[in-house]
Amino acid sequence: MVLQQESVRGHVPARRQVASVKRARLPIAKPPPVVRGEVHVNLDRCKGCELCIECCPKDVLTLSTEFNSAGYHYPLAATDGCILCQGCMAVCPDFAIAVSAVGNTPPGWDAGSFSAATGGG
Ligand code: SF4
Ligand code: SF4
Repeated sequence: MVLQQESVRGHVPARRQVASVKRARLPIAKPPPVVRGEVHVNLDRCKGCELCIECCPKDVLTLSTEFNSAGYHYPLAATDGCILCQGCMAVCPDFAIAVSAVGNTPPGWDAGSFSAATGGG
């Protein structure tokens, strides 16, 4: 008889349990904005080493089938997916690639360079 009373007192309705779990999972801060990067390649500097392509965590870059003026293939960027990690820029031995926030082309990278695009994702 005593055992039966304890089990009734300790019982929590299933609906109330679910509600408390939902409250505990509410975010306390707004999620950060999606980061979007824009890739710029200076065709004349590129030596086609592919280091930038291999280091990209989002597979944004692929090697072109075309040649630049020095006879090398150069990287092309996909239209979305760049997260602006700057890895490609850091590994390029020829300073031939730059990334920036979308619409914020770095000075000197708008003329004589190939600008490929971008986006979060
Ligand atoms: S900045 Fe990062 S994600 Fe964007 S193309 Fe370069 S390596 Fe890929
Ligand atoms: S790392 Fe630089 S030189 Fe090598 S393929 Fe990429 S842009 Fe060209």
